[in-house]
Amino acid sequence: MKAGFKNGKIQLFFSLAPSIKIPFIDFFEKFIDFSYSSKYNLIVSIFLHREEELNYENPSEKGRERSHNCSSSLITMHWGDSTRAIPFFHLTQAPLSRRCFYMVRRPLFKPVHPVYEVTEQTIRMGDAPGYSVELDDENKAIRKMVKLMDGTRTIEDIHSALLGEYPELTREEIAEAVEDLGGLGFIMDQAAEEASGLTLAQKERYKANIRFFSLFTNLEQSPSDVQEQLSGKKVTILGMGAFGSTVLANLVGVGIEQIKLVDFDRVELNNLNRQMLFNEGDIGRLKVEAARDFIARLHSGVAIDTETMQIGSSADVEQVIAGSDLVVLAADQPFFVLPRWVNRACVNLGIPYIAGGFNLIEGQFFLVDPGKTGCLDCMHLHRSEQVEDYVRLIENLLNTEFRPPTATIAPNTMMITAMMASDAVRFLTGIAPVQSAGKLLLFDFNTLEKKVFVEWERNEQACPTCGKGNGEEPIFQVRANEVYVNARH
Ligand SMILES: [Zn+2]
Repeated sequence: MKAGFKNGKIQLFFSLAPSIKIPFIDFFEKFIDFSYSSKYNLIVSIFLHREEELNYENPSEKGRERSHNCSSSLITMHWGDSTRAIPFFHLTQAPLSRRCFYMVRRPLFKPVHPVYEVTEQTIRMGDAPGYSVELDDENKAIRKMVKLMDGTRTIEDIHSALLGEYPELTREEIAEAVEDLGGLGFIMDQAAEEASGLTLAQKERYKANIRFFSLFTNLEQSPSDVQEQLSGKKVTILGMGAFGSTVLANLVGVGIEQIKLVDFDRVELNNLNRQMLFNEGDIGRLKVEAARDFIARLHSGVAIDTETMQIGSSADVEQVIAGSDLVVLAADQPFFVLPRWVNRACVNLGIPYIAGGFNLIEGQFFLVDPGKTGCLDCMHLHRSEQVEDYVRLIENLLNTEFRPPTATIAPNTMMITAMMASDAVRFLTGIAPVQSAGKLLLFDFNTLEKKVFVEWERNEQACPTCGKGNGEEPIFQVRANEVYVNARH
């Protein structure tokens, strides 16, 4: 094997380009494992070539297929028969003071899944719905291999350990089995997991999160990468009442470590039936300050920025949300007007937002990803077309000056805010489809049933906010003086 590489050489190119293709040449495929980690900005590309046989300008079809766009910093290498041919290697020029290094993949059968016998010849992996398969294992080789996949052994080691009992097994078959079980979602790469940029304290604090994320990751992405992704996100929460404060606690739990809180209100005794971040000693204090102190005691690693202000225009919103990865709209007054300010600001700045509210017996929320989903004004256009009297009803409701008194219990608040936070995690990590993108979801507190109340597309032609519309439709005349107050666009 090594003789074949006699004239071979390795070139490593490091660049800071946003993405780069790595030609994955099938000739070498057996000898190289690539792992990708999106957490670094450092791009590593690697080309292996031999003078006469390999032309990396023109990789084979298979190689082309397997080219990857990635911002990768981890390359796991196996070279011929030896796993030590490429020494442990630090890249000290990595940005963000990160180190990365070459290492050999060490398969770990994800500890969240059981493996057990169904019959003598058959085994089942996984127990949770959607995460379970049955496999033939007549000679018990899979059972034994899975036991050896404990994250301490390379494919070589596993192969050597099995050779005594299964002399016909080849290294390639083990590598294939790792790929196959990886494809089924049962294997992760412990080497990549250990190379995560998380601190030991983060790994310990978020242990259960990381195990949960392992459900969604594969050999190319380690669960800690997902956690690290979340830790790097910045979320702004508008409103620190029942919605905002419970979303805040959930987001801190999942590992968002940069949070901005915006509110002008003070804690009152009647908030304490549902706003569990606050206590009697906080009565009379600004909510943003009481919430900040609560989080400081819960998780000292979270950077909380507070802003005491009553939002009065979309320009105000733009000012407070700039630089956020996600905005949570957790306030509802002024009714109809505030969501449109937030929508406008988020579309202008290209920042996604998730907004939630109550209607006595149901909670609702939706997510807008500017340019990708329809925005709130697209929804108003859609509803004006679908629902007779839509505009008149909104106007009439606004004209009553009715301000719904707070009428809710803590469990209901928590159910809907937890769902929002759960969707925020899906949105920020991409581990699973976002449920509320471009959809208004309703959750009935009495039946505990969820439904899609309205789903709408982006209306690029007619939307005055995210499209080319001129805003002449009647819905955009409603409270136009307030909606467009101080508007900069
Ligand atoms: Zn729109």
